[in-house]
Amino acid sequence: MPRILLVEDEPAIADTLIYALKSECYEVVHVMTGAEALKLESQFKHDLAILDVGLPDMTGFDLCRQLREIRRMPVLFLTARSEEIDRVLGLEIGGDDYVTKPFSPREVAARVKAILRRSGNGNVVAQSVTLPSGKGLKIDDLAKRIILNESALDLTAHEFRLASVLISHPGQVFSREQLLQHAWDDPGAVTDRTVDAHVKSLRAKLKAAQLGAEEMIETRRGLGYSYSLLNSCA
Ligand code: CA
Repeated sequence: MPRILLVEDEPAIADTLIYALKSECYEVVHVMTGAEALKLESQFKHDLAILDVGLPDMTGFDLCRQLREIRRMPVLFLTARSEEIDRVLGLEIGGDDYVTKPFSPREVAARVKAILRRSGNGNVVAQSVTLPSGKGLKIDDLAKRIILNESALDLTAHEFRLASVLISHPGQVFSREQLLQHAWDDPGAVTDRTVDAHVKSLRAKLKAAQLGAEEMIETRRGLGYSYSLLNSCA
């Protein structure tokens, strides 16, 4: 079970994050100051650190530098200011990702999962779904490819991310907002229509690959989109 060090001085924010991370089966150790974090990290190994940039005793950036003198680990910053300076500073000192407050705890959990996966600590490598026809649909998360009938679909990065979240949860309805959070690094910069456009092109590619069968991705009016195993007759 990956161990996450959360350094956040606002209890309400920390609580929602702890809840979201624990429900994804991460072990979370929470402290409120940089000094406590440094003391803990010198005693225990953590797989990833989530650092608030505005801590009472130092900045999250300073803390990141000092933590990395102890041990190299992936870092996700939580920042209250969306100015470019924070982003640049945070990434220049080697942060792996950042989110701007207010954020959705689920989004943070998704980012954590992605970082751990990239750094080799995640446990999702490839998922396969067997279709009713007996043929296979495979999500190869390392190669970032979707394989249908043993050939890889030619998808863009966003199409791949949309497809992998839908296909790995058959029948579950995702709102456009949820799909934005999952598939875009900067969800605030795009609109619902962007999701619709990418779903449309993804559908066309899925359809072409299985020679004109029904929609594998269903529109649920007023709700969003879901992936239907029943319509997948490749
Ligand atoms: Ca703070």
